[in-house]
Amino acid sequence: MTVAVTKEADLKSKFTGALIGTAVGDALGAPMEGWSFEKVRSVYGNCNYYNSYSNKKGWKMVCRYYTDDTEMMIGVAESLIRNNGFDGADMARTFVQNAKRKRWYGPGTMEVLERIRAGESWEDASGKLFDGEGSYGNGAAMRIAPAALFYYDNPDMLREVAYKSSHITHSHRLGTEGAVLQAFAIALAVLRREKEGMLADLRESLQDNAYIYSEKLKAVETLMAKGGGKEDVIAELGTGEAAFNSVPTAIYSFLCTDNFEDAVSYAVSLGGDTDTIGAMTGAISGAYYGAECIPDEWLSQLEEGKKGKSYIIWLADELYYRYYFLRLKFCETFC
Ligand SMILES: [Mg+2]
Repeated sequence: MTVAVTKEADLKSKFTGALIGTAVGDALGAPMEGWSFEKVRSVYGNCNYYNSYSNKKGWKMVCRYYTDDTEMMIGVAESLIRNNGFDGADMARTFVQNAKRKRWYGPGTMEVLERIRAGESWEDASGKLFDGEGSYGNGAAMRIAPAALFYYDNPDMLREVAYKSSHITHSHRLGTEGAVLQAFAIALAVLRREKEGMLADLRESLQDNAYIYSEKLKAVETLMAKGGGKEDVIAELGTGEAAFNSVPTAIYSFLCTDNFEDAVSYAVSLGGDTDTIGAMTGAISGAYYGAECIPDEWLSQLEEGKKGKSYIIWLADELYYRYYFLRLKFCETFC
């Protein structure tokens, strides 16, 4: 993977951008989760936020309440901060303590969390789902932003923590590989100042046996080259809950646009698993453009409360300082 220099002053904004970007993308997509592309278009037009009054019904998108994507992302951040790094048992416990049904968890994740709550080991609980195959849903990729930030400059640890944190709830190889791909997309967005070459680096990050993901990244490249329409993107990349039908779609939404607002608007305009594809696009885009590039009109609507907007920004700050001081300590010892 190519490593570029990132100024420290920008880095903090990228940490905040990725965490709050997850919440904004999630909250924006949540009201239309499960809608078809045609239904989204008939209600919100092209989801161009500031022009959305011009669509037929005149509805404007709202960006208010986050769902399970952000609640689990908060759990990842809390656990990393508490332990100065990854601790699987603590992260699993944090997911269990945080989970609220009103955040629209999927039944598979709820079953795993119930098993852990009942005393099963975090290393074993998820592997029992789906006749012992484990889940390949996007539930691990959607929450990965804090881990991607904490290990953005350490590819080996990034991969290991993405796998292990995914394994808590999504242990199918295609679920864990989806989380790894999303983690590398966020890490590259932190490192890079230009998008050129990112797809090649993402392809390098895949394991040799991740055939479906390398095919999807090839499709992303083809769609970028020919400027494919939304119907083509939906048909070739997908908008479903499987990690391989949504992580590449989020990467494409980021790559084919030029700013945070357009990226997340594009992602949710495709329909399907809009909250999660919005959350993942928001994480990558926030890591690339920084927190200042998230529209005030969206941020101002985002929910507050015990674990709302201000808390998420605080988590991003804490995560940044932990990362920064651990790196300083490492350099004092080994550099
Ligand atoms: Mg959700």
